[in-house]
Amino acid sequence: MRDVIIVGAGPAGSYAAYLLSKKGFDVLQLEEHREIGKPVECTGLVSKRVFSMVRSRSMINKVHGANVYFPNNKYIHVSKNEETIVMYRDQFDKDVAAMAIENGTDLRINARAIDASVNDDFASVKFRENGKIQEEKTKIIIGADGVNSTVRRLLSNERPSRIISTYQVDSSYKMDDQDDVNVYLGSSSSRGFFGWAVPSGDITRIGVGADHDTAIKYFKNINKNFNDKILGINGSPIPIRYLKKTYGKRYMLVGDAAGIVKPLSGGGIYTGMISGKNAAIAAESIIDREDFSEKSMSLYQKLWRSEIGRELYIDSKIQDVFSRLTVNDRALNRLYDILSSGPIIKQINRLGDIDYPSKIAISILLRRPQIFRYIVGSL
Ligand SMILES: Cc1cc2nc3c(=O)[nH]c(=O)nc-3n(C[C@H](O)[C@H](O)[C@H](O)COP(=O)(O)OP(=O)(O)OC[C@H]3O[C@@H](n4cnc5c(N)ncnc54)[C@H](O)[C@@H]3O)c2cc1C
Repeated sequence: MRDVIIVGAGPAGSYAAYLLSKKGFDVLQLEEHREIGKPVECTGLVSKRVFSMVRSRSMINKVHGANVYFPNNKYIHVSKNEETIVMYRDQFDKDVAAMAIENGTDLRINARAIDASVNDDFASVKFRENGKIQEEKTKIIIGADGVNSTVRRLLSNERPSRIISTYQVDSSYKMDDQDDVNVYLGSSSSRGFFGWAVPSGDITRIGVGADHDTAIKYFKNINKNFNDKILGINGSPIPIRYLKKTYGKRYMLVGDAAGIVKPLSGGGIYTGMISGKNAAIAAESIIDREDFSEKSMSLYQKLWRSEIGRELYIDSKIQDVFSRLTVNDRALNRLYDILSSGPIIKQINRLGDIDYPSKIAISILLRRPQIFRYIVGSL
């Protein structure tokens, strides 16, 4: 019997596999695709924290700021000394998976999990590997199989409660300004979320997300700023609310499978890897005490929530308000006037953090409550 079977070789699953294998556990990891990291469905923008967790050669560019466009076509510029990294996402996934394999993970590709079950004595996963059906027993299953998780569908009753639709292209357009990403707000750019353009070396990643709506409807309004050759199209749903229960008897859900994603940006690489890390820590302790009951597995949720749960909860409340504001162009333009006139930009530049955006929201709320009164009053 395996110690752990991990379904999915995205960043959350491979990071958990790496940490568990490094500790000497017997880990089987299943990936349904023939190539790790493909297809790419990501902009590849992460904080330096992510690159301090893994060794990766996937960096393309470093950006330091953002131009945030409002419906009046004016923009505010925010920036930081610390860089944000733009990467080749497929190479990144390959690098994390390589760390897992080098430490002993038995990673199978073209191996799709099709069934999973748990009982008092063991858990088991049935999978189709290169067309052949196989089954393996394990002490614990980690579902790291993304937004449409099979493990979640089979073992949990819960589904993600909030899903963003996305549409993104790789454009041959090369932005002159390689140091800033563009963010587009307003009713022609998105409903409930935002549009973006990210300078990625010789190409630009141009995309849009929409809440309660279809992203493609807004895409042409963002792309008209660039309108160059389209080299690739991608987009998949992003779950922006974590599940109430991310564990059960003999299983845990990590990353997108559990909705452990930043609600304001839809970024899930950092949060997915944090959940993968905590799943690995929990699995070690659970296997050690040989108690695989639901109560014992709840350790995983306690761990990841104590690290990032508060941040994700506050961000989800801010996103509720932001989502409603995005369809109110008058309020957004007024917000532009407030933000561009004062020292708030300095405050944003000082405290802004793509992994922990609540810091800046709380600081503005404390120092300038009139902004929040204005926003709430506009809704
Ligand atoms: C358009 C777009 C842009 C984004 N941009 C960013 C960004 O800039 N920064 C950021 O941090 N996040 C971004 N994200 C979010 C980020 O891509 C995800 O949050 C992240 O990939 C989650 O990692 P994961 O390991 O949980 O899941 P995934 O990366 O989805 O990995 C799951 C893996 O499981 C495999 N799998 C699925 N089902 C099975 C099965 N039954 N059997 C075996 N294998 C299976 C899949 O093939 C996949 O390899 C973006 C998402 C989208 C859609």
